[in-house]
Amino acid sequence: PTDGIRPLVAGNWKMNGLRRSVDTIEALKSHAQEGVLERIDMLVCPPATLVALAVKTMDTVPIHIGGQTCHPAENGAHTGDIAPEMLLDVGASYVLTGHSERRTDHGETDEVVHAQTLGAWRAGLCAIVCVGETKDEREAGNEVSVVAGQIAGSVPDGATAENTVVAYEPVWAIGTGLTPTVDDIAAMHDAIRAELTNRFGDEGAKMRILYGGSVKPGNAADVLAPNNVDGALVGGASLSASDFMGIADAVA
Ligand code: PGA
Repeated sequence: PTDGIRPLVAGNWKMNGLRRSVDTIEALKSHAQEGVLERIDMLVCPPATLVALAVKTMDTVPIHIGGQTCHPAENGAHTGDIAPEMLLDVGASYVLTGHSERRTDHGETDEVVHAQTLGAWRAGLCAIVCVGETKDEREAGNEVSVVAGQIAGSVPDGATAENTVVAYEPVWAIGTGLTPTVDDIAAMHDAIRAELTNRFGDEGAKMRILYGGSVKPGNAADVLAPNNVDGALVGGASLSASDFMGIADAVA
């Protein structure tokens, strides 16, 4: 983590979870009562069908609940989509934008992610804008320029440390058990910090930059140690309360 920045450990359940998965929330809740929230913020992004139930279940424990995506607009003729205002209405406080699975499965471009992020801000949600290079892009040595381009295109003017988090998730590390080396993670996060500070000044210097892609309890301490790595966005391991809490506990 970066000195002076409060880390965030976020779980992305993706398309997993039924009402009974609230057991996981109950378990997180009781573990969190042991003190981890004094040091870090925690967030769970369940599928949209479970956001309201997750908020209700978390009740007195200040673990945040978020959505996994949103439509840019407040309402209208967009069958199947969910407005940021709807997420806010059921108690969400964050939303992911531009996750690589959305970019791939739904053709979301930087322009779309930019619009979704503005929508999230309009509603009063904090947007976690996701970026990351593919395997081919890294092998060609283009990872920093690809990620810088995604940030330029996806993060709107007006981003602050309050309304925006950037999540660096190399596409080839998501769900594969592969991770970049700690040095490679540190180098990318330093490059992202430079971009953010250059564009947003002090706000960019304070903005949280998460790493995501195969974070597990066993590698979390190493992966999250460098300066400018201000927490994790966790997929698979967030489905198990004990693994997710293991990752949270590993953040210094
Ligand atoms: P993973 O997913 O932890 O299962 O690799 C990360 C993500 O896609 O957010």
